[in-house]
Amino acid sequence: MNILLIYPPFLEARVHEEEISAPPLGLYYVGAVLKEKGYHVEILNWAHMDKTSNLIAQTLREKNPDILGFSVLQANRWGALEIAKTAKKVNPGVTVVFGGIGATFLWKHFLTHFSAVDFCVLGEGEYPFLKLIRAIEKGNPKNLKSVKGIAFRTQGRPMKTGRPLPIKNLDDLPIPSKFFNYQHVAFTRGCPGNCTFCGSPRFWGRKVRFHSSEYFVKQLEYLVQQGTRFFYFSDDTFLINKALVIEICRKIIERNLEISWFAISRVDLVDKEVLYWMRLAGCTQISYGVESGSEKIRHFLNKNIRSEQIKKAFSLTTRYGILARAYFIYGSPGENDHTIQETIDLINEIKPLSAIFYILDIFPGTTLYDMYLKQWGLTDDIWLQKIEDILYFETDPLLTEEMVLTFGKTLRNTFHEGLSDFTRDIELTEKEDFRELNADFLSRLAMTFSHGDYAKIERIPDKKKTAKNLYGRSLDYAPNDRAYLGLGMIKQQERAFRESINLLDGGIRLFPLNDQLKLCQGINHMNLGEFQKALGCFQGMGDSKQAEIYIKECRKMLGTME
Ligand code: SF4
Repeated sequence: MNILLIYPPFLEARVHEEEISAPPLGLYYVGAVLKEKGYHVEILNWAHMDKTSNLIAQTLREKNPDILGFSVLQANRWGALEIAKTAKKVNPGVTVVFGGIGATFLWKHFLTHFSAVDFCVLGEGEYPFLKLIRAIEKGNPKNLKSVKGIAFRTQGRPMKTGRPLPIKNLDDLPIPSKFFNYQHVAFTRGCPGNCTFCGSPRFWGRKVRFHSSEYFVKQLEYLVQQGTRFFYFSDDTFLINKALVIEICRKIIERNLEISWFAISRVDLVDKEVLYWMRLAGCTQISYGVESGSEKIRHFLNKNIRSEQIKKAFSLTTRYGILARAYFIYGSPGENDHTIQETIDLINEIKPLSAIFYILDIFPGTTLYDMYLKQWGLTDDIWLQKIEDILYFETDPLLTEEMVLTFGKTLRNTFHEGLSDFTRDIELTEKEDFRELNADFLSRLAMTFSHGDYAKIERIPDKKKTAKNLYGRSLDYAPNDRAYLGLGMIKQQERAFRESINLLDGGIRLFPLNDQLKLCQGINHMNLGEFQKALGCFQGMGDSKQAEIYIKECRKMLGTME
């Protein structure tokens, strides 16, 4: 049995690329379970595939799968449907299975309207998918009804089978990184929260299940062995069980994994101890769903967090040298100038160093969606439209598009205009063992202002000054190669080549293996016409392709000068 698992392309271009470009972890778990049972499985990330490309049909012809499984989100369902149709044209005998959150909540819709979809796998998909394949192999349709957690057509009508029990011990699942390489990992399944806009509670249930710390860290170890050093811990709320999180952090440190990672948490779960261990173990960013500065709106969203908890989480997280990223939602019921001002006031208090603003969206599987269908007497047929999502404000006569877009603009502008000031108020722990980590945090942040994302945003004031200040503070804590490089580059841009050279000399002495420092230094010397010295810098970079170009240029100049 030849199985192809596909992460299909989205309908629209994304604003935050990082959040969609990797296939969901669930696809790797399904793949691992199948591989462990001896099936031939391949996972294709087609998130960026051009839907009109001949490559789709060509690949399907070449790989000739018996089963085609799709990880379906609301926003990529049309991509999945189009590929499924193509697959049926290439081989009418191929079996198409939709899984993931989109298939779980819209199984009836897919099976009613799209003949290219043969089966949907509902909820936690690993074992239902495996059992489905075994039933298909046996070729007896009666077997299908005994497979729990799937849906299909019988006598032309969609039906679903019973609900399977959730996997009791998550460690029974094979570790996907034995077979695949990926960056998104998860320690838990489920979230105790019950936010009105979120599908997680119904998909996973509100009772959180955990892997063991040993399983989780082993998974990381396999990935590190494959060369991956940066991870997204994609749990809905990684910090649910503090003791287990600390256990994970200790193991990461003991095993010397030398990784860095981002995590997600609720604000009401962090404290000093857990942040201390997370930072030591390589955590550099925690995302918090703050949603709104208005208590009234947070109450509607059922967020169940207090302003005090938000403020404490942001100040503590920053104190331990972890970037606290705030997620905000706007365009909620009752949103107006006053509630937006409340959000602005909160932003100015918590001083986030990173913030993402979303318009409230309505997705199947959420309380908000149920309310919406009921209020307007609608059905899932609304998804026959070629849309990715429904924006809440489109359903609320009290909100107009213009109002909501203005709210978003005001929020973003406020954040960007305040950002440089926020950095001035950063207070870091003075713990002795955090000096290098503090230097790392400050130089990382400085880099976003001098050469990273923030450098491109016009509205952020004093970017260069802010970067210089942060790099300087970084070096006050401990020598840091990123800080030397960043400052050296700024001086170079200012054409203060001699100053840049003096600074980089110090950096190169302390970090002799850092090629970027040598490259920057070499360019300084070239600008001063010191080609012999420049050549020395570039030649110190080993086999670097980048260096080769400069070496050639220096030799040419030296030749001309002789
Ligand atoms: S938004 Fe976050 S906290 Fe709320 S239910 Fe979803 S995962 Fe849980």
